Amino acid sequence: MTANHHPSDQTLLRFSAGTLPAGPALVVAAHLSGCPVCRRRAATFEAVGGEILTQMQPEALSSKALDHALSRLDANEIENRSQAGMRPARTSIDNLVLPAALDGCSIGPWRMVGPGVRLSRVGLPYAPEANVILLKVKANKRMPAHGHSDLEVTQVLTGSFSDGDNRYFPGDFVEGDDEAEHSPVIDSGGECISLAAIEGHVRFHGFLGRLLQPFVGL
Ligand SMILES: [Zn+2]
Repeated sequence: MTANHHPSDQTLLRFSAGTLPAGPALVVAAHLSGCPVCRRRAATFEAVGGEILTQMQPEALSSKALDHALSRLDANEIENRSQAGMRPARTSIDNLVLPAALDGCSIGPWRMVGPGVRLSRVGLPYAPEANVILLKVKANKRMPAHGHSDLEVTQVLTGSFSDGDNRYFPGDFVEGDDEAEHSPVIDSGGECISLAAIEGHVRFHGFLGRLLQPFVGL
């Protein structure tokens, strides 16, 4: 599984510096666990940032979210090295084993939020205020249309969807900008499950969007 769509350098830098909020940091960690390209890049940023930040107050670096994310990455790397060995119990939903970054998170039940659209809330024990969801959309359905006002990141876990000229597959990372208003369409091959974190106020539009709004608590 090779990703074609990756976090922006700005997002990776913020992740490496521990300044990305816990929700998006979790989704970035989920991407890194399957993307060696971004793992190397994040490690480089971390090394460079560490050099600079040794001149600064060490408490500026403290971030429970980053610590958690990095510990999950470590666990994932250990697992990769011992593929035939014992695997730790993993968090899963349906028959899908979720990325190691979600270990220890609570996974809510699927709730129908519109025709063919289900949502499950992900609870982060170290950041209960984080807005993280799993979204399951049936084939050929359109995702709820919405515009971004701050930051939205999505990691595709299963299935695929198209958004304008781009197609996104498992392992791909989608970063919403603050101007785009879009409503991706799930490809015909099957349902799509993605992990998303939303920061700031999001304006949802249309019938599905109005249904979804109360569930994301914004
Ligand atoms: Zn990547």
